[in-house]
Formats: sequence, structure tokens, C-alpha cells
Amino acid sequence: MISDDVLKPLASWRGKERYGNELLDCLTIIFKTAGCSWSRCRMCSYRNERYEKQSTDALAHLLHRQLAWIVQNYTLAEFPMVKIFTSGSFFDPAEVPPDFLDAVATAFRGKIVIAETRPEYVLEDTLKQFIDRVDDGSHKTPVYCAIGLETTNDLIREKCIDKGFTYSDFIRAASVAHTAGAGVKAYLLFKPLFLTEGEAVADMKTSIAEASRHADVISMNPCTVQRRTELERYWREHAYRPPYLWSVLSLLQDAPVFVACDPLGGGQQRGPHNCGKCDYEIVKGIRDYTLNADRDLIDALMETECACKQEWEYVLNNEKPYAMPLTR
Ligand code: SF4
Ligand SMILES: [Zn+2]
Repeated sequence: MISDDVLKPLASWRGKERYGNELLDCLTIIFKTAGCSWSRCRMCSYRNERYEKQSTDALAHLLHRQLAWIVQNYTLAEFPMVKIFTSGSFFDPAEVPPDFLDAVATAFRGKIVIAETRPEYVLEDTLKQFIDRVDDGSHKTPVYCAIGLETTNDLIREKCIDKGFTYSDFIRAASVAHTAGAGVKAYLLFKPLFLTEGEAVADMKTSIAEASRHADVISMNPCTVQRRTELERYWREHAYRPPYLWSVLSLLQDAPVFVACDPLGGGQQRGPHNCGKCDYEIVKGIRDYTLNADRDLIDALMETECACKQEWEYVLNNEKPYAMPLTR
């Protein structure tokens, strides 16, 4: 017997999202699917959220029930934007049966739909069919492919994350998406395993500059230690420290384009953090900045007085790959 629980998405919530110069009401949904076909990234626990292996029809049935729950429990007319995540890639046919893509597109027709996917599943025909159903002429770019590029550095993506695709795969996917009429959102991961704070900051600076040539929107995720991941094992052994919030601020301050950032777990040991005393205001400020794009706010936060700022500067300049992390 299927319990009520499995008929709901893994999570869904309402929020605000900056789009151009507007603030839109956004419905975010995480559908439970067959799970990520790659399933190897060192920091990812989402891949653990998956249905047992089953037939395509049975899987489609469960997904349709989740969508029905969304339609019943939200007034969709309130949301001009919908963000869709799965336990992997929305456009992976092994994870999400193609007829479910049609149902989602029909349910969210007339909205801006942002769907997360790995680059190998960005195919022109699939995307065009999806866009045709979503697009009612209300928006110039009705669909965005959100791709977890993480970094533009292939060596770091391979060795530190085990992501299994290259920067050129991302560029190809971005080009296909644009040709099909979709936009591209790139997620970057700030401070994966095995990088010093300084190396991680340098990697993000380059990645933001390079990825913004191919992506319309950039979102930076400061790394958080999720449960049941390889990253968690290193963190428990004191071999990993999530990034400083000072580093996050400095990256947002210097970025040549607007970079959205929601520091999940901000101020906690598992998330990006400073000393504990200055964290709350900075996390709140970064969240506000993501909505208002006010650089003056970032400048002001960077001027916050706290003793841990010197510690951060020391770590940034002196931490070595063979003796890290210097702090917890
Ligand atoms: S980060 Fe994305 S691609 Fe990597 S294992 Fe998780 S869901 Fe799969
Ligand atoms: Zn502090």
C-alpha cells in the first residue's frame, strides 16, 4: 500500500526570487524521483532521496500524484515563477519519465520555470517540447536550465567533487539551451573538499567571471556539510572546514556580475560560518542582498568589526594544502 507520505513531493515552499529588477513570488518544489543517475558527488546527500527501482509506469504514477498534491495545496496563480529540483536531473529520462515533463509544463504554463539538470540531459528536442507547453507568450524566457557547474576548473570539479562532466559539456549545454530558447542558470560550489580557503576564493573568482559568459544567472552555494556524504566523513575527522562568511562577502563584493547566494546552514558548524558572534547579521545581510542586489549593503557588512576578521585574513594568506584546515 502506498502511504500518504509518498504522494507528496520531498519538499515545497513559497519564497521570493529576484528576476532582472523584479522580485517574484516563487514556488520551489523538490520532487522525489528515481534518483540521480550519476550519484557520486562527494558533498551531495540529495541523491539518497530516491524511490526503489521500479517500472517507468509505476514511477510516473508516483510523480503525477506528487504534482496533483502541489496543484491541490497551492494556488498556482499566485506564483509567476516555479523552481523545480529533483533528487538529480529533471530532464534525465531514466529519473523522470518524459510524459511527466509534459504534465509539469502544462501545470505551470505561463510561468517562468527553472529546472535543475546535469548538462548531458539538455537536449534540444526535449527542451523545445517542454518550452512549447510552458510558453504562453507571457515571458521572454519562460524556461531556465539550472546546471550545477560548481566550478569552471575541470581539475577541481573532477578531483574535489567527482562531478563527472567537463566545463566544455556545460558550454555545450548552455549553447543548446539558448538555441532552444531557454535561459541558463549556473550553480557554483564555493569551497569543495581539499581546497584551502585561499584556493577556494581564487577558484570562485575565476569561475564567476568565466561562467557568466555562458550563463544568464549565477548562483553561488557556499558548501554545507550534508549528512551521509563523503564530505561529512572528512568534516568529522577535522579535515574540512566550511568557508568563512567573510570569504562569501568578499566574493559578492568583487564579482563582475550580480551573484545570488543563499548561505544554507549559515552560521552553523556544518555551514559557512565565522566566529559565531558576527554570523547572524552577515547571513541575514547576504540573504537580503540576494533579493535587493544592493552592493552598498555588502560593502557595509564587510566593514563589520569582529575579531575573527583577522583570523580569516590570516587563514586566507597562510593556510597550506598540506596543513589544513587551520581553524574550525
Ligand atoms: S550533486 Fe547533482 S549530479 Fe552530483 S550526485 Fe548530487 S544530484 Fe547527482
Ligand atoms: Zn566574528
